[in-house]
Amino acid sequence: MGRVAPAPGGGTTPKELSVRRTTTRTIALVTSLAISGATGAAVATAAPTTSSAASASSAAASVATDGHTDDVVAGTTSDPRAARLLASARARLPADWRARQAVALQRFGIEQSTARDALERAIDPTQYPCAPTRLVAYVHDLLAGVDPSSVELLTMLGAFDFPSFDAVLSGTSGDPRYALDEAHRSELTSSFRAAQRFWDTDGSDIALMGMHGDLMRDPARLTPLIGFLYGIPESEAAEWAALVVEVVTGDPGLADGDSPLFTLNAFAWSGEGDPILSSLPDKLVFGDGMLDALGAIGVGDVGPRAILGHEYGHHVQYDRDLFDSPLTGAEATRRTELMADAFGTYFVTHKRGLALNTARVLQAEQSFYEAGDCSFTSAGHHGTPDQRLRASTWGASVAADAHKQGHVLPSLTLDAQFEAQLPVFVAPDA
Ligand SMILES: [Zn+2]
Repeated sequence: MGRVAPAPGGGTTPKELSVRRTTTRTIALVTSLAISGATGAAVATAAPTTSSAASASSAAASVATDGHTDDVVAGTTSDPRAARLLASARARLPADWRARQAVALQRFGIEQSTARDALERAIDPTQYPCAPTRLVAYVHDLLAGVDPSSVELLTMLGAFDFPSFDAVLSGTSGDPRYALDEAHRSELTSSFRAAQRFWDTDGSDIALMGMHGDLMRDPARLTPLIGFLYGIPESEAAEWAALVVEVVTGDPGLADGDSPLFTLNAFAWSGEGDPILSSLPDKLVFGDGMLDALGAIGVGDVGPRAILGHEYGHHVQYDRDLFDSPLTGAEATRRTELMADAFGTYFVTHKRGLALNTARVLQAEQSFYEAGDCSFTSAGHHGTPDQRLRASTWGASVAADAHKQGHVLPSLTLDAQFEAQLPVFVAPDA
């Protein structure tokens, strides 16, 4: 979900939510830089969270396989090579880098998938205290082979989001560099075409694309991206890019960028409302890492199509202005996410949609929701697994009712029915 539309009166836009949830990590990193004295200008901004982050820092410390210690929150390492790279990165960061990063994130407003959330939780568990899930376990397995100082550096530079930003800025559906993962290409493409026909909205302008990690070893592509994101001259951006490439190609655990860690996202995006970004086509992006994660948690059969249905549901929301509501903060995000769950399941189980087996779809969705469960109430929260399953089950039941007529509801009619059910979905469990 990406959106750059102006704020409705009294409401909170998804772009604000995106910034709020993403800066949780950024604040911790700024705090670490402030502690280390690298960015004095950031101290005041980070002050409110300094004590909690500092007191929690020991939980984020780790010992690498070669014996040196790293602490992602405190920003320290005993590894000489990592220390050199970190010092190099800090020297290159402009004094207002945090503000620049926040502006970039706000402008882009890319929704973080549940799998991407799991990465943040695995990197810095102090920021998201909740029970381990299969997704977090999957990410932990990926991170186990990566030097913690590499993770720290890439996190500081925001590099785990580079492929998502790049897909938004430079990707087109005809460009082979953004082709969908071959194993899922025909399934996702035909499902996407079916969604375009199914809904009564205009989806002809949406580019369906893949997202790969090869970007992370390509300075020619990284340099303009970093320059745009942070508003720095090309010469500086080139130095950052060289640093990223050195880390990515120097750490076997990152597989020259092919680690799923870099592409652990699937999202719908629209630049509507932004003077520059609105010239870019709407997008539905499926990262290789996301497809890998779905397979790893056991929902590789219908999971990708269910996610596609959810993301296309966001495009229906863009087209029909359904992001606007009187709700704010976490409640506003929960509403639009549960709506995407309901719309997506309606589409994938409907006879005139994908006609997937309803029991299997709900089973797979439940697995995915539970895999991403986290009991915190951040603005980016998608809803609890129970709430999400209720919304999805309802979407499937509306589709089942329609089968007799073979009828597809107008999106606004489906929305009206959804809004009436929303209080039931979010009611506290008995
Ligand atoms: Zn969503």
